Amino acid sequence: MKTAKIPATNQEFPIGKIVCLARNYAEHARELGNETPAAPVLFMKPSSSVIADNGAVRIPSWSQECHYEVELAVLIGKTSRKVPVEAAMEHVAGYGVAIDMTLRDVQNQLKAKGLPWEIAKGFDSACPLSDFVPAAVIPDPHNLELRLSVNGELKQNGTSSDMIHRVPQIISYISGIFTLEPGDVILTGTPAGVGPVQAGDTMAAEISAVGRLKISVQ
Ligand code: MG
Repeated sequence: MKTAKIPATNQEFPIGKIVCLARNYAEHARELGNETPAAPVLFMKPSSSVIADNGAVRIPSWSQECHYEVELAVLIGKTSRKVPVEAAMEHVAGYGVAIDMTLRDVQNQLKAKGLPWEIAKGFDSACPLSDFVPAAVIPDPHNLELRLSVNGELKQNGTSSDMIHRVPQIISYISGIFTLEPGDVILTGTPAGVGPVQAGDTMAAEISAVGRLKISVQ
């Protein structure tokens, strides 16, 4: 079982479902040729896809194009069902750094056929995830800098202020569909600058005041 840790408070949660937003930054939606949606576009990763800091992404043999997407991760601390926007932030236990690893070629092939693209997002090692800082440390999650570099070269450099759907709205929306439980994680989407990595590369992801991740690629 994978666990989400908040070292500052010695809290640990077994990781449940990982609910992810697609196209939550307009510039990123544009770079992939997608329209920006009125409602959040959701998909999930299984908890088995999580790897920790200093872990390795293993690109499956059936993909030739594996992309990084740095994302702010929100850890749920309380059972959340049909939570109103005004109460949503009370359900956040902490914030972390995630990389939504995506098999872009596989995803594009499935999208073109109108098929679900879970396998492009949920394969083993597809969710590098840092430890979490307590929610109280981050008074405003919409004022954070997100950066990702590959082999020391900066590739993504965005700000969570560019999120289309914001954390309280996201929690309220998701909790109206799936009950969120302690240990569930939400990935809030990626800013522009996504691109491929290959075996032998090293990724460094960082979100200001939240943390960092160093992940190798195999
Ligand atoms: Mg993503």
